[in-house]
Amino acid sequence: MTGGPPVDAADAVDVVVIGAGLAGLTAATELAATGRQVQVVEALDRVGGRTASHHRYGQALDAGGSYLGVRHLRVRELAARFGLALTPTAAPGANLYDLGAGLLRSDAGRPAFNALAVGDALDRLDDLAATVPPADPATAEHAAEWDQLTVAAWAHRELRHPDARLLVDLLVRQMLAADPADVSLLHLLFYLASGGGVHYLTAFAGGAQQDRFVGGAHQLAERMAAALTRPVRHGAEVTDLYAVPSAGRPGARPGHGPVRVVGPGLSVLGTHVVVAVPPGPANRIRLHLPSVHRPAQPARTRGATVKLHLIYERPFWREAGLSGWVTARTGPLRYVVDDSAGRDGLGVLVGFVTGPDASRYAAGSGAARRVALLDRLAGWFGPTARQPLAVLERDWQAESTVEGCYAAVPEPGWWTAAGPPWPTTAADGPVRWAGTERCAQFYGHLEGAVRSGQETARRIIAADPVRAPAAQ
Ligand SMILES: Cc1cc2nc3c(=O)[nH]c(=O)nc-3n(C[C@H](O)[C@H](O)[C@H](O)COP(=O)(O)OP(=O)(O)OC[C@H]3O[C@@H](n4cnc5c(N)ncnc54)[C@H](O)[C@@H]3O)c2cc1C
Repeated sequence: MTGGPPVDAADAVDVVVIGAGLAGLTAATELAATGRQVQVVEALDRVGGRTASHHRYGQALDAGGSYLGVRHLRVRELAARFGLALTPTAAPGANLYDLGAGLLRSDAGRPAFNALAVGDALDRLDDLAATVPPADPATAEHAAEWDQLTVAAWAHRELRHPDARLLVDLLVRQMLAADPADVSLLHLLFYLASGGGVHYLTAFAGGAQQDRFVGGAHQLAERMAAALTRPVRHGAEVTDLYAVPSAGRPGARPGHGPVRVVGPGLSVLGTHVVVAVPPGPANRIRLHLPSVHRPAQPARTRGATVKLHLIYERPFWREAGLSGWVTARTGPLRYVVDDSAGRDGLGVLVGFVTGPDASRYAAGSGAARRVALLDRLAGWFGPTARQPLAVLERDWQAESTVEGCYAAVPEPGWWTAAGPPWPTTAADGPVRWAGTERCAQFYGHLEGAVRSGQETARRIIAADPVRAPAAQ
């Protein structure tokens, strides 16, 4: 089917990139560097997607993606290229555990969990993850069974010690922002294999949370966007992609005609199109292109997050020898970390409300929510916790351009029914899908988004290598 509103000749480009998150902007940056005309179109009035910041008290606070690890080499490389500094996240002091038997302060000598049971559970997860090929999880020997088995059911069946079961429960809620009863064992194992293993993924120093951006993660997208010759078009929510007949066009290949990218007030023509939006919104883009098939993507995702910031005059918990880190057995707030480092004396605690807790939390009244939140923090850190300068919330479930955070968590059975959501052959059409959910490595991370953007650009360049490098 062809059609859609007419397009102005000035709006015909080599590549249209839909979505100005890290994946889209990375693809655009790489393609523009080869001399291609690239137009990025973005639904929102800002760039960055799932990286965004609150600006308060002269500080930028990451409301979305924030931390990066020692293995996130492509993001580190981009940060250096665009002049952004990183700062370590580690906060010295004792951690607090609120696991149902009173508040436990855990210094090195007082582990909160049974070390043997917990160590064994983590090792088992890493051993099982090592049998899942991230490039195609459905080909793992036990994929069929593990895709139907939820993590909660697996933990109940396999882990004897209650501490081990509790740890796995907390881990899934924290790492995937989902309830372990909603997540298949196969998805968890894929996520671990993709991201470098459970020990790496959960660690701060030396692990996936080692650093954050000085001045906020959103700056990376902003700087990449600013360096593009064609400004990003904002307020441009894409709804439809139409085929345009390529007959008579010199060099046209069957099925590779230009594509008309359409939305309210938008009509742009691209020889290639990169759809760099998350799976939920990508499912809503209507395809009117006979030769293009939508890749496998979960119809419904299980991840949900409200990310909170509590700003204080000073990191007062450090005076009591506390690191600011809390893990709690019951919600809504189960995880707190200290984000104060390098913030000119301000104390900043970051809290995560995840999975079904996030929906319940967001549905409550603002005033009641705040009282309950401060009560909880006061129980952990004392009465000073009741006096923040500001409490900031970002409910990512409410954002229609995202649907499912931190990244898509497919329903049990999805991997074996659908297959991987990234290209598995060299064959490509004029439309390609990018994003952190389209990357077998570091799925769900900033690193996955950047790698996917780079890989998509590489495939376009390989498919259409005629452009000579030129100043755009
Ligand atoms: C609360 C939170 C905490 C996180 N913490 C971390 C962390 O510490 N470390 C880490 O590595 N990762 C973290 N992540 C994940 C990380 O932020 C994402 O993996 C990454 O930013 C995804 O980038 P992306 O380009 O794939 O997608 P996105 O950033 O979602 O970009 C997609 C873009 O497409 C736009 N769009 C959507 N639909 C349309 C449409 N129809 N037309 C036009 N534009 C459209 C969106 O507005 C958006 O700008 C976190 C995420 C969240 C939400």
